[in-house]
Amino acid sequence: MNTEIMELVVIGGGPGGYSAAFRAADLGMQVALIEREETLGGVCLNVGCIPSKALLHVAAAKEEAERLSKHGIRFGAAELDLDALRAFRHDTVSRLTGGLAQMARQRKVQRIIGNARFAGPNVLHVEDRAGNVSAVSFQMCIIAAGSSPIHLPFLPDDPRIVDSTGALELPFIPKRMLVIGGGIIGLEMATVYSGLGARIDVVEQTGGLLAGVDRDMVGIWMKRNSHRFDRIMLSTRLESVEAAPEGFVARFNNGHEPATYDLILQAAGRRPNGDRLSLEAAGLQSNGGFIAVDSQMRTAQPNIFAIGDVVGQPMLAHKAVHQGHVAAEVAAGHRAVFEPLVIPSVAYVDPEIAWVGLTDDAARQDGIEVDVGKFPWAASGRAIANGADYGMTKLLFSRETGRLLGGAMIGPGAGDMLGEICLATELGADATDIGRTIHPHPTLGETIGLAAEAAMGSCTDLP
Ligand code: FAD
Repeated sequence: MNTEIMELVVIGGGPGGYSAAFRAADLGMQVALIEREETLGGVCLNVGCIPSKALLHVAAAKEEAERLSKHGIRFGAAELDLDALRAFRHDTVSRLTGGLAQMARQRKVQRIIGNARFAGPNVLHVEDRAGNVSAVSFQMCIIAAGSSPIHLPFLPDDPRIVDSTGALELPFIPKRMLVIGGGIIGLEMATVYSGLGARIDVVEQTGGLLAGVDRDMVGIWMKRNSHRFDRIMLSTRLESVEAAPEGFVARFNNGHEPATYDLILQAAGRRPNGDRLSLEAAGLQSNGGFIAVDSQMRTAQPNIFAIGDVVGQPMLAHKAVHQGHVAAEVAAGHRAVFEPLVIPSVAYVDPEIAWVGLTDDAARQDGIEVDVGKFPWAASGRAIANGADYGMTKLLFSRETGRLLGGAMIGPGAGDMLGEICLATELGADATDIGRTIHPHPTLGETIGLAAEAAMGSCTDLP
């Protein structure tokens, strides 16, 4: 029995948890970080953001090589070495998780490997892989337990029916693949597998792909991606899946013909892990797995904080990191709050779609009066030179205050450029601030300044 009382215990070693643990240690706290997996990094580094981007990078390079044949360079037919590709994904992940382990050691963060559950408001029980349970007492705790993929109960238990974690293992490249769910994760994996040679069908129960993104952006993406998909079945439910000698026969409602697939990806959403922690022992409860917190990330128990996917949408790594910093700072006695004006989102599909803050469609739906500045990349010299003239940058300014409320971009590197729109929104910039900021030429980022100029109209008078 361990009688030491830790100053701070963090449950979960994902982006939220390790960021919180490292910040708290930097602020002088004595910290233990409990993670059930051997490596730190959580979903994001091990089976999410990073391995998916490694595969997307390779699939995009293969497709780019094919596109370049139109621009004067011809390569031979691409040959796929799945083992080498898996090794590249693995090396990318282990460089990062190894780095985190070192950062934990440098900060003297005590790592505990095991599954934690509350046994009281100041004590956790941690079960290791061998089934041994030890008690860890704490003054303060940060819950960063993340989320897990939702599994549809009627699907057969078979290695050829995978969730995002299984898909990232690249078991094989199927001839025909069904992707269940037309959200970011489903379409990212569809982009990888189709880039590597699979034919894809998508089934999505709502009326559109990529919920939350402006429909004009999705329209541009659809035009550029029709070659990937045999069918995109919207407003459609998968009714049943039966094993057959050559794969699985899937049946749909809405009049769609049944089809046979050799790989099925379930990407129908993620569920927060809050209901797997025996919260009631700490006097807490979850709502469908989500844990309620205030703007300082405190739960209903003043000594227990929660951050990241387990506290709500958006389930994104950068949100978890910022919440982790706030929780750690508050736990260490500092004044901090999590009150961002905006949280950016990126669909790392091809081409990338990035958006932040108010969208055009939401403004229209909610009757918010905005001035929209659009810059089609067909007018950007760099986009034309890069073969990306189909892209678009859009900014939305409040008609009442003139301030930037949000924006969206589609095109290569859109996610990398979105940071400027996030910063400008947080700083309350108006169209003149952005339009008169000199952007480097010729760059794709220049389209942000030009979209702001479009919103300024022809007025060049100084105020
Ligand atoms: P997690 O990363 O889920 O970490 C929680 C950790 O807690 C896990 O390691 C888990 O093992 C551990 N844990 C849980 N319960 C216990 C317990 N009781 N005891 C001990 N340990 C426990 N987000 C982005 O921002 N950008 C992207 O590009 C992106 N791509 C993604 C791609 C895929 C395929 C997936 C699945 C997700 C992606 N995400 C992306 C989402 C991102 O991974 C999550 O939002 C992020 O990982 C959440 O961080 P977290 O710290 O809240 O939780």
